[in-house]
This record gives sequence, structure tokens and C-alpha cells, in this order.
Amino acid sequence: MKVIDDEYYMALALDMAERALGQTGTNPVVGAVVVKDGALVGLGTHLQRGTPHAEVHALNMAGSRAEGSTVYVTLEPCSHHGLTPPCAERLIHEKVQRVVVACEDPNPLVAGRGIEMLRAAGVEVKVGVLHERALKLNRRFIKFITTGMPYVTIKSASTLDGKLASRTGDSKWISNEKAREIVHTMRHRHQAIMVGVSTIVADDPQLSTRMTVPGLSPVRVVADSTLRIPETAQILRDGTAPTWIVTTEQADPEKAKRLMGLGAEVLRCGSGPQVDLREALVQLGQRGISSVLVEGGGRLNGSLLERQLVDEIVLFFAPKLVGGKESPENFRFTGYDRMQDAVTLRDMEVEQIGDNVCIRGVPVWAQAEVKEGDH
Ligand SMILES: [Zn+2]
Repeated sequence: MKVIDDEYYMALALDMAERALGQTGTNPVVGAVVVKDGALVGLGTHLQRGTPHAEVHALNMAGSRAEGSTVYVTLEPCSHHGLTPPCAERLIHEKVQRVVVACEDPNPLVAGRGIEMLRAAGVEVKVGVLHERALKLNRRFIKFITTGMPYVTIKSASTLDGKLASRTGDSKWISNEKAREIVHTMRHRHQAIMVGVSTIVADDPQLSTRMTVPGLSPVRVVADSTLRIPETAQILRDGTAPTWIVTTEQADPEKAKRLMGLGAEVLRCGSGPQVDLREALVQLGQRGISSVLVEGGGRLNGSLLERQLVDEIVLFFAPKLVGGKESPENFRFTGYDRMQDAVTLRDMEVEQIGDNVCIRGVPVWAQAEVKEGDH
């Protein structure tokens, strides 16, 4: 039996926040719970950017019972006038006795000021309950708000020997049905899906999600240095979500014009022969993209890895071995001379999905970057 304590209610607030992942745009997911005299009297979740924050929903539900209550909130209450009025002011106005916060808001506009405001008004504040879980839940938001660049996750499904297709290019299907469903959920939780042009040429995928909130379909981004995307590609024709093509200054302006005529946007990233991937991510961030799911192929994965632009790696492995010297692999890049230079992952998680295995990890450099951003 669970003990009813601060963690008990914070876990509920985090559960509610988690369910809104993928629908809050560049905003964090946040949950709030109001407890008065041992009774749950208010619940709230931030549902969509521009709509009330979690605390407001929960306080509205609590009504007059908010006075003297404890409010659990997964992220520090805001102190600034954004699209909605500051929640710290509202908590003070409602005469809440105590506020329990999982983690401080990394947004430089808040960064401790919400907590200060509450304390200055005599509200008791406790910070850090289920802190790690809250940080992990909003890792994409934290990267974006502290660096202006989207959080980049590489997802790849391969055979046990790391192949994305057979030597003839056959790739359907490698992973099992459940693993493919998980990929749809992952797409739903990102604002953009990125692939290399070779993937479009080889597979002509739709890059859709079966469960997107209307108006919030992830943008489809194609890295295409020479604009060789076929004009018949599904993602240029189906109109289910915006399609952006990242290319270079050198790419053919006539082809760019034709692609724009089909409704695609063309972003020029760098003057070299290859797309400057860092510049591409900066431009995506400037356009309000806070998270990118990269779905290959091996060259795009390899280039992002070499340039240390990856925040998380999710690999699905199927119990198959397909071999082939030329068959495409998970990560194609020059490679490192010494094992000690290899990209190392931390926070490894392994999950068995039927006969498939999913391995997640965070490249070690990402940790350094998050720490820099925190201070
Ligand atoms: Zn707020």
C-alpha cells in the first residue's frame, strides 16, 4: 500500500502531465493537484499552449477549498505575464498555505522568481519532490528553452547486426507490430520528424502519426543537400502535415521553386556542399520546433552523431541477421580510431517488446550541454 505523502500526490500530478505530452507545442507539460485536509479537491493539467496553466484548472476546481490547501505542481509556478496571467499571483490570491514543486522552471523568464514570489507572500514552498522524474518528463522543453535548439532523438529499427534493410534494399518489416505502434506514439510526442533524402527516395514514407491532435501534426523535415527529392514523393503530395526541406545555398533555385509550388518550405542551411546540420537545427528552433525525431537513414544518423547534435538514441532490434556489405546500417560515418573515442551512452534503459528489444540512452556530451544550460 502506498503511503500518502508529498511524493504520492506529486506522482499523480506527474502522471497527469505526462498524458499531455505531444500536445503542448513548445510549452512544458505540467500537472497540478490541490489537497485540503487530506482530501483531493482539485486536479489540473496544462493541455495546450495559450490555454490555462495546470494550477489554474486545479484551483478553479477547488474553488473556496483552495484557501489553506497544499498545491502540488510539477514545475515551478510562473511569475511572468505570458499568454496567461502568472500562476504565482493566483496561488497567493487564493491564500494557498503550501506549494510543493518538483523542479524549478529553467525558463530564464521564471528561473526561481515564481518560488521567490510565493515565499515573499508567506506561502510555504518545498522544492525537489520527484525532481528527477520531473526533469526527465520535460527534458525536451528544458533543452529548447535553455539553448534555443530542439531536443534531438534518433530512432532506428534494425536487425541484430545493425542493418536497416537487406542488400537489395528490402526493409518491410524489420520490427514487430508493437514496436511500430510505439514509434507512432514517439512521433506524436515530437514537433518534427526528420529524415535524409535517401529514405524518401528508397521508401517514400508518409511519416504520419495515427494519433495527432488536429493542427499539431509533426512537421516533416527532409535533409536534402542537392534537392534530389522526387516531386512525386508522398510527403509533398498528401497534405497531411507541413513539409520542410533543409538544403544548402548551392542547391538549384529552379527545383526549390517547384518544391515551394507544391507547398513545401525550403530552408537554406550553410554554403558548403552538405547541409550544415547545426544551422538546420538552429533554424528549426527559430521556427518554434522544440523537439525532432530523426528516423534515419544511416548517413543522417551518422552525421548528427559525428557533430554531437544528438540528445537521445532509441534503437529497436529485431531477432534477425541479414548481413550484406553494402546493406545500410544504423549509423554510417567515418568512425573513430580508438574505442576510447566512441560515443558513450548513459542512463541506459532496455525494454523487451515481444521478440524485439528497445534500447534507450543519452550520449554523454548531452549531459554536459544540459548542465551548461542549467547555470
Ligand atoms: Zn503558470
